[in-house]
Parts: sequence; C-alpha cells; structure tokens
Amino acid sequence: MTKKKTIQTFIKESKKVFGDRFKYYPNVPYPGGKEKITIYCNKHQKDFTVLAVKHTKLQGGGCKGCIVTRIGKEKIADHPIIEEWDRKKK
Ligand SMILES: [Zn+2]
Repeated sequence: MTKKKTIQTFIKESKKVFGDRFKYYPNVPYPGGKEKITIYCNKHQKDFTVLAVKHTKLQGGGCKGCIVTRIGKEKIADHPIIEEWDRKKK
C-alpha cells in the first residue's frame, strides 16, 4: 500500500494558505482530494463543501460568502467553484 495524502496533510497545507480562516473536520474521508469535503468558514459561520483539490489552489476557495466578498456578485457566476455548486444541485 502506498501512502496517500491524508486529510491531516490537507489540513496542514490549507492552513498554510488560509491560516485560521477555516475550520476543518479531521475525521472526514479524503479520497485523493477528488471528492468534496466539508469545511467550516469562521468568517461567515457556516459549513460549505468544496472539492479538496480546489480549496488550496484557489485563494478564494471559501464559502459562497467568501467568494462574493472577493470577486463581487457580478462575476460570481463564472467562478469555477460556483460551477461545482451548480453541478451539485442538479
Ligand atoms: Zn466564508
């Protein structure tokens, strides 16, 4: 068995990028980062789900409130994370 990236590694990397902006659940499964994981946004005080791989890559990889704050309401429809959210709804 090869050692894969674990949720703990992911949390460490995320904290390097975001500091204490988000709270992570250390016991969620982390299947290679290709699944959505639930993260808690300290600023907006709510859970959101995001693809693990995208979370650390996108500086704005927060909840919807974070992204609206960051890029503005007009642009939000084009944001890659929104695309994921829309897909999830279907
Ligand atoms: Zn937020």
